Amino acid sequence: MARSEVVVDLGALRHNVALLAGLAPSADTMAVVKADGYGHGAVQVARAALEAGATWLGSCSTEEALALRRAGIQAPILAWLDAPGEDLAAGLAADVDMAVSSLSDLRRIERAAEEADARPRLHLKIDTGLSRNGCQPRDWPALVEAAKKHEVVAIWSHLASADEIGDPSIDLQAKRFDEAYEVARAHGLDPKRHIANSAALLTRPDLHFDLVRPGIAIYGLNPVPTAHDLRPVMSFRSRVALTKRIPAGESVSYGMTWTAQTDTTLALVPAGYADGVPRALSGRMEVLLEGRRRPVVGRVCMDQVVVDCGDDEIAEGAEVVLFGDGRRGEPTATEWAELTGTIDYEIVCGMYRPRVRRIYT
Ligand code: PLP
Repeated sequence: MARSEVVVDLGALRHNVALLAGLAPSADTMAVVKADGYGHGAVQVARAALEAGATWLGSCSTEEALALRRAGIQAPILAWLDAPGEDLAAGLAADVDMAVSSLSDLRRIERAAEEADARPRLHLKIDTGLSRNGCQPRDWPALVEAAKKHEVVAIWSHLASADEIGDPSIDLQAKRFDEAYEVARAHGLDPKRHIANSAALLTRPDLHFDLVRPGIAIYGLNPVPTAHDLRPVMSFRSRVALTKRIPAGESVSYGMTWTAQTDTTLALVPAGYADGVPRALSGRMEVLLEGRRRPVVGRVCMDQVVVDCGDDEIAEGAEVVLFGDGRRGEPTATEWAELTGTIDYEIVCGMYRPRVRRIYT
């Protein structure tokens, strides 16, 4: 194996997608595969998700959507946030659905459609309170009016606090979404509606509408404290590169922040912060090695960490699980996130590294 590996369990991903699609039986399921499938590999995830019952894919940029098309994926794809200069004409020619937040977005798409000689398929985005992209309610009627000569597939929005169950902002956003829908209807449109991310899919069936857009939950990480049987898809593992015995009183790693109290066996694992192990885990992390959780001691380095194995004999080459689904007692990506003050989304997205091999099971 490589120095370290990210293992992506596509069986777990298919299980999660089927479970989520089953929770929203009256809606279609869009698997969100932006950011290279949250670090899991967009093409592989997209194929598995479509096999398991998703019928749409969600990407951030047109460029990401085109990468899926180049891989031969023909399912409908919505791209929702283009950076200036993206090749919208290529996206339209490849049948990528486009998000529209403003009249200037619409003009750009219209110009690109002319260039590509393509008919755009639009999803008009209303800003119901997140204040990122999306059209402000006061500008919405003008946007709807200007867009209605095209195929308006859907109106849609995104929730700010869906993971805080019962937060009043969810109902406020839902109300504004209803109002935007009524305006679209009054302009003669009959669009689909979508607003639910993973958290809303899991906790707010009234917001499923025609399409749900789960991201993190398809990767088996639950953003809300519900008991759904979601299975973490990514694990991160390496192998012991070297073992050594040090006498009591010797210290470990940069800054010598940890000192052995007794003679101890150390195992060196070739995975450091350049491989995705946050340096902020220094002094806080554990790994699963030869059936037990063991502490990483001293600072996380660029290329390696050092594990305290006490008096145990550890074979060089032994498997080390840095994080996984937790079923064998190993740490999870969620635990890493809690220890470093972030969210598990950031942990898995950060695992796309050229020096870490990604394998699929
Ligand atoms: N929809 C949009 C517009 C998003 O940006 C995202 C992710 O950030 C999702 C859906 C999926 O969200 P989650 O991963 O919380 O399910």
